[in-house]
Amino acid sequence: MSQTLLWGVDWYPEQWEKTLWESDVQRMAAQGFHAVRIMEFAWPILEPKLGTYDFTFFDEVLELLERYNLRAVLGTPTAIMPAWLVDQDPTVLAVHPSRLSRDFGCRRMGCMNAPSYQEAARRLVQAIADHYGNKQVVIGWQIDNEIGHEGSDHCVCDHCRAAWHRWLAERYTTIENLNEKWGTIFWGSTYSRFDQIPLPRQQVATSHNPALLLDYDRFSSDTAVLWAETQVRIIREKTLPHQFITTNLYPAPLSQCIDMEDMVRTMDAAGWDNYPVWGNQDESLPYFFTSYVLSYVRGLHPSGTFKVMEEFSGIQGHTQLGHLPPPEQVVLWTNQAIARGANAIFYFRWRTAPFAQEQLCYGIRDTDNVETERERHIIKNIQTLSPVLKTFASEPISARVCLVYDRDSSRLIREQPLSLGMEMRPAPYMQVGYDAELARWFAPYVIYNVTGDIKSTRSVTLENYKLISLPLYELTDEAFVIRLTNWVAQGGHLVLGWRSGSRTRDNWNTDRVLPGLFRELAGVQVRSFEALGKGSVRLSLMDSLIHRLISTFIPCKGEVWADIIETDTAQVIARYHDKRKHYSGKPAITCNKFGAGSVWYLGTSPDATTTFFLYKTILKQAGLEPRFLGLGIEEIKRTSHDGNNVTVLLNHTPKKKRIYGRIIPPWGTIVIEGE
Ligand SMILES: [Zn+2]
Repeated sequence: MSQTLLWGVDWYPEQWEKTLWESDVQRMAAQGFHAVRIMEFAWPILEPKLGTYDFTFFDEVLELLERYNLRAVLGTPTAIMPAWLVDQDPTVLAVHPSRLSRDFGCRRMGCMNAPSYQEAARRLVQAIADHYGNKQVVIGWQIDNEIGHEGSDHCVCDHCRAAWHRWLAERYTTIENLNEKWGTIFWGSTYSRFDQIPLPRQQVATSHNPALLLDYDRFSSDTAVLWAETQVRIIREKTLPHQFITTNLYPAPLSQCIDMEDMVRTMDAAGWDNYPVWGNQDESLPYFFTSYVLSYVRGLHPSGTFKVMEEFSGIQGHTQLGHLPPPEQVVLWTNQAIARGANAIFYFRWRTAPFAQEQLCYGIRDTDNVETERERHIIKNIQTLSPVLKTFASEPISARVCLVYDRDSSRLIREQPLSLGMEMRPAPYMQVGYDAELARWFAPYVIYNVTGDIKSTRSVTLENYKLISLPLYELTDEAFVIRLTNWVAQGGHLVLGWRSGSRTRDNWNTDRVLPGLFRELAGVQVRSFEALGKGSVRLSLMDSLIHRLISTFIPCKGEVWADIIETDTAQVIARYHDKRKHYSGKPAITCNKFGAGSVWYLGTSPDATTTFFLYKTILKQAGLEPRFLGLGIEEIKRTSHDGNNVTVLLNHTPKKKRIYGRIIPPWGTIVIEGE
């Protein structure tokens, strides 16, 4: 693979006087940027009237970029629509499940099932591809913008009603089949025709059948994926071989219904918008959460790399602001993204918008157009670290451990969070409890500096790994359990979480003792459990004398959930040890030898202290080498294009650290080559 690391910036020339353009572009080139993302909200400029296309504006922009040897990534501007389209057909506007209709003038307001929006978008993308697909200056395409974000993954308009009924008829063939699978005998909701089935609009109290909600998530995901694939197909026919196609996905990874793996399947790479702090957060996300997010996006596409289409540069929010990170940390997040697999970084944005909804999204430079401190740090990093970063940025990452997620189980958790401890809503349209829990399960890999992958139950190749973590796997697929069983028998080490095996793939409660199909593999039975909400339960570690002593003096706790475990063949690793609980003394965490491998069953979510001690044992028993370099120190091993070892050390703390005899400044990065 060639040495590739693309530095870019998101630029909106339509928001500035033309007199600024040339000095902007001149500075981009001088500072070391290679490319500029443009056009992503420019539909009314490109098609000012129905069927009348005008490319003069962007022809001029591209000519200017070319003159300064910069390249362009074109965003297809279909996350908004021109006013004439709404005049022509007001039903293109989406309806949120809360019954709020979306209005023109916002973004992501179109229903992706509205025929006239689909048709207008197809014609526009065709016209753009016809005009720009053969231009050398264009090196890539970004499909739409944050498809499904801000609650736009769900629409409940009449277009969606018709499409939903068609989707159901295709999936279930007969209404009797649907009635049986959904269990509609419950509360007398048996249907006699597909067109009787409601859309899941928000209810005053009790909501819809969870089977209906789950299918609506699948249907809505298919809608969004088809929306993107239609554009990919049009562009693919017209583009030159050097042009890549991606889309900018957004955090939190599993907080909405869209299957992002499906979404990027026909593209060349996944794209990501990397915001470790946004809006009114009073602190940035923990570094292991950002590592989780970046590793997730790397795992979406077989290419094993991804592009950051929006990288945080200045403080950001729509109506409120929060924590201001130091400029050194802004640069650290860039280097973390590259270390975790990004081979393109586009900073959002070149300059803060003077007006409108993103006035509080600060860019590299502010509206006064004077050099900022963060600009100096960003540019210095590009100019000094780029030569070494590009030696490995496009090389594959080798991992021996993997966190496995299940898309349907994550959808279910949105509707049934199980415990108050799984309910987290940073915005009204977001439920990030599943992500928070998965990040907790990825954290030990980061803390112990064991490079980890993140894959779905559908795409994971078990044989690549020595250790696999599988939390919250409720909607159990028997074929996957058989694969896991064979892998463990041959020496794999599985860390299985509470509620695994509790449902069938159709979301029925299992008719077996929990953990259902995993009972023999885990060597345990679970007959009762308690949701811990925001509380916790004290644990006593039993895996070694030293850990037993430690947990006597340092509180080790379980959070979110407590399975009361009965062991068949498993060994007890931790017990509940809490006078407030009637199940004190019962097993909480176990380990079962199975064939040449082992299965750890975690009946509760370990807190940070328990995680620290427990995973040292788990990683060692799996034959891995846990290396704790201090909290906030992240080490990622990479291989350069010519086969040399590269170690990236990231200091996520405000203090100077000494690691391997080298000093890393606060929020600093060190790259060690050839050792
Ligand atoms: Zn709709």
